[in-house]
Amino acid sequence: MTHDVSAFLGGLYKTQRSNRFAAWRLILRYHAACRKVFPPRKAVWGKFYNEPKGAYIHKALSEHLQAKQMSLCCYCRDKIYHRKNSNIEHILPIARYPMFAFEYSNLALACVTCNALKSDKDYFRVAALSADYTANVFDCFHPSVHDYNDHIDFILFQTNHIYVRVFKSRSVIGDRLCVEHLKDVSIYGVKEQVNPVVAGAVKKLGEFLNGKPGYENAFSALKRLADNI
Ligand SMILES: [Zn+2]
Repeated sequence: MTHDVSAFLGGLYKTQRSNRFAAWRLILRYHAACRKVFPPRKAVWGKFYNEPKGAYIHKALSEHLQAKQMSLCCYCRDKIYHRKNSNIEHILPIARYPMFAFEYSNLALACVTCNALKSDKDYFRVAALSADYTANVFDCFHPSVHDYNDHIDFILFQTNHIYVRVFKSRSVIGDRLCVEHLKDVSIYGVKEQVNPVVAGAVKKLGEFLNGKPGYENAFSALKRLADNI
């Protein structure tokens, strides 16, 4: 656990010393259990926040992350209007890395779409992860390590009939998040199965923005998009 967590807990129970110690004890108990368990127990996070004190910490942590991230999803930058429309995201998934389930730097707030689409996917290709979380070098965009604006750009286009988001990477690290995850977010928003013409146009637009072959068709793609609005 990093010192950031103690700062968070310090603020959480500023006037309640006994609760602060109890919260620490609870987190450390789960943290220690997670480091020992193999194969991973995915249910450990649910078990934690189903305990009364765990639920209180979970809610407070969620609000803390929302404020820290200025109410923006850690992956797609969609606005998080309410805690119920978001989830605490394990950047390195619990299914593979239970030892980091309670690691502060491994937690971020994601919109429900990103959280559901990502699920247990592991975007990283780090050959040997260090048990010291902060010593690792991550080869995909990591919300706690990288600055979003250095690695990803996006365009949002919305009318009465269409909702389009296209993501463009600015770096190798951003590339991987676009390929592994954000393209799924774009497709989910467009509802490909409902209007394949629009979906095709959005795909071309994405290729244009990413400088891939076929970019010369971007303007006809935009025209098709406009014709379908
Ligand atoms: Zn999102």
